[in-house]
Amino acid sequence: MLIHSIKELREKVKTWKAEGLSVGLVPTMGALHAGHKSLIDRSVKRCDRTVVSVFVNPIQFCPGEDLDKYPRTLEADEKLCEGSGVDIVFAPSPKEMYGEGHILSNDFLTYVIPPYFYVDKLCGKSRVGHFDGVCTVVNKLFNIVQPDYAFFGEKDRQQLIIIKKMVNDLNIPIEIVPCPIVREDSGLALSSRNKYLSDEDRVNALALSKILFNIKACYKKGVNDCKALFETAYEYLNESHSLEYLEFRDADNLEEKTTADDNTVVFIALKIGNVRLIDNIMLGEEC
Ligand code: AMP
Repeated sequence: MLIHSIKELREKVKTWKAEGLSVGLVPTMGALHAGHKSLIDRSVKRCDRTVVSVFVNPIQFCPGEDLDKYPRTLEADEKLCEGSGVDIVFAPSPKEMYGEGHILSNDFLTYVIPPYFYVDKLCGKSRVGHFDGVCTVVNKLFNIVQPDYAFFGEKDRQQLIIIKKMVNDLNIPIEIVPCPIVREDSGLALSSRNKYLSDEDRVNALALSKILFNIKACYKKGVNDCKALFETAYEYLNESHSLEYLEFRDADNLEEKTTADDNTVVFIALKIGNVRLIDNIMLGEEC
Protein backbone atom coordinates (compact mmCIF):
# COMPACT_ATOMS: atom_id res chain seq x y z
CA MET A 1 0.00 0.00 0.00
CA LEU A 2 1.37 3.40 -1.03
CA ILE A 3 0.81 6.24 1.44
CA HIS A 4 1.85 9.87 0.97
CA SER A 5 0.24 11.41 4.04
CA ILE A 6 1.67 11.40 7.58
CA LYS A 7 -1.81 11.35 9.06
CA GLU A 8 -2.89 8.32 7.06
CA LEU A 9 0.31 6.46 7.94
CA ARG A 10 -0.13 7.19 11.64
CA GLU A 11 -3.70 5.90 11.60
CA LYS A 12 -2.60 2.65 9.97
CA VAL A 13 0.30 2.12 12.40
CA LYS A 14 -2.02 2.85 15.32
CA THR A 15 -4.25 -0.09 14.34
CA TRP A 16 -1.20 -2.38 14.19
CA LYS A 17 -0.01 -1.25 17.61
CA ALA A 18 -3.49 -1.81 19.03
CA GLU A 19 -3.22 -5.41 17.84
CA GLY A 20 0.18 -5.74 19.53
CA LEU A 21 2.06 -6.17 16.24
CA SER A 22 5.76 -5.29 15.94
CA VAL A 23 6.75 -2.72 13.32
CA GLY A 24 9.96 -2.46 11.28
CA LEU A 25 11.06 0.65 9.39
CA VAL A 26 13.47 0.69 6.44
CA PRO A 27 14.34 4.32 5.61
CA THR A 28 15.50 4.83 1.99
CA MET A 29 15.79 7.46 -0.71
CA GLY A 30 14.30 5.06 -3.27
CA ALA A 31 15.73 3.79 -6.57
CA LEU A 32 15.64 0.50 -4.71
CA HIS A 33 18.13 -2.26 -5.52
CA ALA A 34 19.22 -5.57 -4.00
CA GLY A 35 21.07 -3.72 -1.21
CA HIS A 36 17.83 -2.10 -0.06
CA LYS A 37 16.00 -5.39 -0.58
CA SER A 38 18.31 -7.14 1.87
CA LEU A 39 17.25 -4.64 4.56
CA ILE A 40 13.60 -5.08 3.59
CA ASP A 41 13.88 -8.89 3.74
CA ARG A 42 15.38 -8.69 7.22
CA SER A 43 12.58 -6.45 8.42
CA VAL A 44 9.84 -8.60 6.89
CA LYS A 45 11.36 -11.68 8.50
CA ARG A 46 11.78 -10.10 11.92
CA CYS A 47 8.74 -7.85 12.28
CA ASP A 48 5.00 -8.40 11.97
CA ARG A 49 4.65 -5.31 9.77
CA THR A 50 7.17 -3.42 7.63
CA VAL A 51 7.15 0.19 6.46
CA VAL A 52 9.62 1.28 3.77
CA SER A 53 10.03 5.03 3.49
CA VAL A 54 11.01 6.46 0.12
CA PHE A 55 12.03 10.08 0.48
CA VAL A 56 14.80 12.01 -1.25
CA ASN A 57 15.52 14.23 1.71
CA PRO A 58 16.45 17.71 0.48
CA ILE A 59 18.07 18.82 3.73
CA GLN A 60 20.79 16.17 3.59
CA PHE A 61 22.08 17.38 0.21
CA CYS A 62 24.70 20.11 0.16
CA PRO A 63 24.63 22.96 -2.37
CA GLY A 64 25.90 21.69 -5.73
CA GLU A 65 25.12 18.04 -4.97
CA ASP A 66 22.82 15.77 -7.01
CA LEU A 67 19.44 16.51 -5.34
CA ASP A 68 17.67 17.33 -8.62
CA LYS A 69 19.09 14.48 -10.65
CA TYR A 70 18.93 11.82 -7.89
CA PRO A 71 17.06 8.84 -9.46
CA ARG A 72 13.36 8.72 -8.60
CA THR A 73 11.64 5.43 -9.53
CA LEU A 74 8.64 5.22 -7.23
CA GLU A 75 6.59 2.86 -9.40
CA ALA A 76 9.39 0.28 -9.61
CA ASP A 77 10.13 0.76 -5.90
CA GLU A 78 6.52 0.05 -5.06
CA LYS A 79 6.61 -3.16 -7.12
CA LEU A 80 9.80 -4.35 -5.42
CA CYS A 81 8.25 -3.67 -2.01
CA GLU A 82 4.99 -5.37 -2.92
CA GLY A 83 6.86 -8.47 -4.06
CA SER A 84 8.89 -8.50 -0.84
CA GLY A 85 5.98 -8.49 1.61
CA VAL A 86 6.20 -4.83 2.63
CA ASP A 87 2.98 -3.54 4.19
CA ILE A 88 3.36 0.19 3.52
CA VAL A 89 5.54 2.26 1.21
CA PHE A 90 5.57 5.72 2.76
CA ALA A 91 6.50 8.31 0.13
CA PRO A 92 5.82 11.82 1.49
CA SER A 93 6.49 14.97 -0.52
CA PRO A 94 9.02 17.53 0.81
CA LYS A 95 6.00 19.72 1.59
CA GLU A 96 4.39 16.94 3.64
CA MET A 97 7.63 16.46 5.59
CA TYR A 98 8.74 20.06 6.00
CA GLY A 99 5.55 22.09 5.69
CA GLU A 100 4.11 24.79 3.49
CA GLY A 101 6.84 26.48 1.49
CA HIS A 102 9.12 23.85 3.06
CA ILE A 103 11.64 26.39 4.25
CA LEU A 104 14.72 24.27 4.79
CA SER A 105 17.20 26.68 6.32
CA ASN A 106 18.10 25.89 9.91
CA ASP A 107 16.79 29.33 10.84
CA PHE A 108 13.30 27.89 10.34
CA LEU A 109 13.54 24.21 11.19
CA THR A 110 14.42 22.37 14.38
CA TYR A 111 17.42 20.21 13.56
CA VAL A 112 18.93 17.19 15.31
CA ILE A 113 22.68 17.78 15.28
CA PRO A 114 25.03 14.85 15.91
CA PRO A 115 28.26 15.44 17.87
CA TYR A 116 31.03 17.28 16.04
CA PHE A 117 33.55 14.48 16.65
CA TYR A 118 31.41 12.12 14.55
CA VAL A 119 30.84 14.50 11.64
CA ASP A 120 34.11 16.38 11.21
CA LYS A 121 35.64 13.43 9.39
CA LEU A 122 35.09 11.03 6.45
CA CYS A 123 31.93 12.04 4.51
CA GLY A 124 31.06 14.80 6.98
CA LYS A 125 34.22 16.70 6.06
CA SER A 126 33.23 17.32 2.43
CA ARG A 127 29.46 17.11 2.96
CA VAL A 128 29.06 19.81 5.60
CA GLY A 129 25.62 19.62 7.26
CA HIS A 130 24.82 16.27 5.60
CA PHE A 131 24.51 14.32 8.85
CA ASP A 132 22.41 17.09 10.46
CA GLY A 133 19.95 16.53 7.61
CA VAL A 134 20.13 12.75 8.00
CA CYS A 135 19.59 12.78 11.78
CA THR A 136 16.75 15.27 11.47
CA VAL A 137 14.84 13.28 8.85
CA VAL A 138 15.49 9.93 10.56
CA ASN A 139 14.16 11.39 13.81
CA LYS A 140 11.08 12.66 12.01
CA LEU A 141 10.53 9.23 10.44
CA PHE A 142 10.99 7.58 13.85
CA ASN A 143 8.37 9.91 15.34
CA ILE A 144 5.97 9.41 12.45
CA VAL A 145 6.22 5.60 12.22
CA GLN A 146 7.21 4.78 15.82
CA PRO A 147 8.77 1.47 14.78
CA ASP A 148 10.18 -1.15 17.15
CA TYR A 149 13.09 -1.83 14.80
CA ALA A 150 14.84 0.26 12.14
CA PHE A 151 17.17 -1.26 9.55
CA PHE A 152 20.29 0.51 8.26
CA GLY A 153 23.01 -0.69 5.89
CA GLU A 154 26.69 -0.95 6.76
CA LYS A 155 27.27 0.48 3.26
CA ASP A 156 26.83 3.89 4.95
CA ARG A 157 28.72 2.94 8.07
CA GLN A 158 29.44 6.47 9.31
CA GLN A 159 25.69 7.14 9.07
CA LEU A 160 24.92 3.91 10.93
CA ILE A 161 27.35 4.78 13.73
CA ILE A 162 25.88 8.29 14.02
CA ILE A 163 22.28 6.99 14.09
CA LYS A 164 23.18 4.49 16.83
CA LYS A 165 24.80 7.31 18.81
CA MET A 166 21.72 9.51 18.37
CA VAL A 167 19.36 6.72 19.48
CA ASN A 168 21.51 6.08 22.53
CA ASP A 169 22.01 9.74 23.47
CA LEU A 170 18.35 10.69 23.00
CA ASN A 171 16.92 7.48 24.57
CA ILE A 172 14.91 6.67 21.47
CA PRO A 173 13.12 3.37 22.14
CA ILE A 174 13.96 1.75 18.79
CA GLU A 175 16.42 -1.07 18.08
CA ILE A 176 18.80 -0.24 15.25
CA VAL A 177 19.56 -3.32 13.16
CA PRO A 178 22.78 -3.11 11.11
CA CYS A 179 22.73 -4.98 7.79
CA PRO A 180 25.79 -6.16 5.81
CA ILE A 181 26.88 -4.59 2.52
CA VAL A 182 25.47 -6.22 -0.62
CA ARG A 183 27.92 -6.30 -3.54
CA GLU A 184 27.87 -7.24 -7.19
CA ASP A 185 29.91 -10.34 -8.08
CA SER A 186 32.60 -7.89 -9.23
CA GLY A 187 32.90 -6.61 -5.66
CA LEU A 188 31.28 -3.21 -6.38
CA ALA A 189 28.94 -2.27 -3.51
CA LEU A 190 25.40 -1.67 -4.79
CA SER A 191 24.35 1.97 -4.71
CA SER A 192 21.61 4.04 -6.32
CA ARG A 193 24.40 6.34 -7.53
CA ASN A 194 25.94 3.50 -9.59
CA LYS A 195 23.30 4.51 -12.16
CA TYR A 196 25.45 7.55 -12.95
CA LEU A 197 28.43 5.40 -14.02
CA SER A 198 29.36 4.83 -17.67
CA ASP A 199 30.70 1.39 -18.68
CA GLU A 200 34.24 2.71 -18.37
CA ASP A 201 33.48 4.28 -14.98
CA ARG A 202 32.12 0.96 -13.72
CA VAL A 203 35.45 -0.71 -14.43
CA ASN A 204 37.29 2.11 -12.66
CA ALA A 205 34.82 1.89 -9.76
CA LEU A 206 36.11 -1.59 -8.95
CA ALA A 207 39.16 0.12 -7.41
CA LEU A 208 37.16 0.81 -4.23
CA SER A 209 36.44 -2.80 -3.34
CA LYS A 210 39.80 -4.02 -4.70
CA ILE A 211 41.65 -1.62 -2.41
CA LEU A 212 39.56 -2.67 0.60
CA PHE A 213 39.76 -6.41 -0.08
CA ASN A 214 43.52 -6.17 -0.58
CA ILE A 215 44.01 -4.23 2.65
CA LYS A 216 42.01 -6.85 4.50
CA ALA A 217 44.06 -9.66 2.91
CA CYS A 218 47.30 -7.91 3.98
CA TYR A 219 45.91 -7.44 7.50
CA LYS A 220 44.97 -11.13 7.69
CA LYS A 221 48.58 -11.94 6.70
CA GLY A 222 49.81 -9.97 9.68
CA VAL A 223 50.36 -6.39 8.46
CA ASN A 224 48.79 -4.02 10.99
CA ASP A 225 50.63 -0.75 10.40
CA CYS A 226 47.93 1.52 8.91
CA LYS A 227 50.45 3.60 6.94
CA ALA A 228 51.80 0.47 5.25
CA LEU A 229 48.25 -0.75 4.60
CA PHE A 230 47.32 2.67 3.16
CA GLU A 231 50.20 2.53 0.69
CA THR A 232 48.97 -0.73 -0.83
CA ALA A 233 46.10 1.30 -2.36
CA TYR A 234 48.31 3.04 -4.94
CA GLU A 235 48.50 -0.18 -6.96
CA TYR A 236 44.80 0.21 -7.84
CA LEU A 237 44.58 3.94 -8.46
CA ASN A 238 44.95 5.60 -11.87
CA GLU A 239 44.39 9.05 -13.37
CA SER A 240 40.61 8.48 -13.55
CA HIS A 241 40.43 8.33 -9.75
CA SER A 242 40.39 11.18 -7.31
CA LEU A 243 40.85 9.79 -3.81
CA GLU A 244 38.87 11.80 -1.24
CA TYR A 245 39.82 9.70 1.75
CA LEU A 246 41.14 6.30 2.78
CA GLU A 247 41.06 6.10 6.56
CA PHE A 248 41.38 3.56 9.34
CA ARG A 249 38.94 4.14 12.18
CA ASP A 250 37.39 2.42 15.18
CA ALA A 251 34.07 0.72 14.38
CA ASP A 252 32.34 2.05 17.49
CA ASN A 253 33.53 5.61 17.94
CA LEU A 254 35.32 6.53 14.68
CA GLU A 255 38.63 7.28 16.45
CA GLU A 256 41.61 7.18 14.09
CA LYS A 257 43.83 4.08 14.21
CA THR A 258 47.54 3.91 13.51
CA THR A 259 47.67 0.19 14.29
CA ALA A 260 44.85 -1.88 12.82
CA ASP A 261 42.93 -4.45 14.85
CA ASP A 262 39.79 -6.55 14.34
CA ASN A 263 37.55 -3.64 15.31
CA THR A 264 39.10 -1.36 12.66
CA VAL A 265 37.03 -0.23 9.69
CA VAL A 266 38.73 0.98 6.51
CA PHE A 267 36.67 3.75 4.91
CA ILE A 268 37.14 4.94 1.34
CA ALA A 269 35.60 7.68 -0.83
CA LEU A 270 36.64 7.98 -4.44
CA LYS A 271 35.50 10.29 -7.20
CA ILE A 272 35.32 9.00 -10.74
CA GLY A 273 34.51 11.95 -12.99
CA ASN A 274 31.60 13.63 -11.23
CA VAL A 275 30.45 10.52 -9.41
CA ARG A 276 31.44 10.13 -5.78
CA LEU A 277 31.38 6.57 -4.42
CA ILE A 278 31.95 5.28 -0.91
CA ASP A 279 32.70 1.87 0.55
CA ASN A 280 34.14 0.36 3.72
CA ILE A 281 35.29 -2.90 5.22
CA MET A 282 35.60 -4.21 8.77
CA LEU A 283 38.97 -5.91 9.18
CA GLY A 284 37.89 -8.42 11.85
CA GLU A 285 34.88 -9.85 10.05
CA GLU A 286 35.09 -13.09 8.07
CA CYS A 287 35.11 -12.45 4.29
P1 AMP B 1 19.77 5.14 0.53
O1 AMP B 1 18.52 4.91 -0.27
O2 AMP B 1 21.02 5.19 -0.31
O3 AMP B 1 19.65 6.27 1.51
O4 AMP B 1 19.95 3.84 1.41
C1 AMP B 1 18.93 3.39 2.29
C2 AMP B 1 19.50 2.32 3.17
O5 AMP B 1 19.96 1.22 2.38
C3 AMP B 1 20.72 2.80 4.00
O6 AMP B 1 20.60 2.26 5.30
C4 AMP B 1 21.88 2.21 3.24
O7 AMP B 1 23.01 1.99 4.05
C5 AMP B 1 21.28 0.91 2.74
N1 AMP B 1 22.04 0.42 1.58
C6 AMP B 1 22.27 1.07 0.43
N2 AMP B 1 23.06 0.32 -0.39
C7 AMP B 1 23.34 -0.82 0.30
C8 AMP B 1 24.12 -1.99 0.01
N3 AMP B 1 24.78 -2.13 -1.12
N4 AMP B 1 24.17 -2.96 0.96
C9 AMP B 1 23.50 -2.82 2.14
N5 AMP B 1 22.76 -1.75 2.47
C10 AMP B 1 22.67 -0.76 1.55
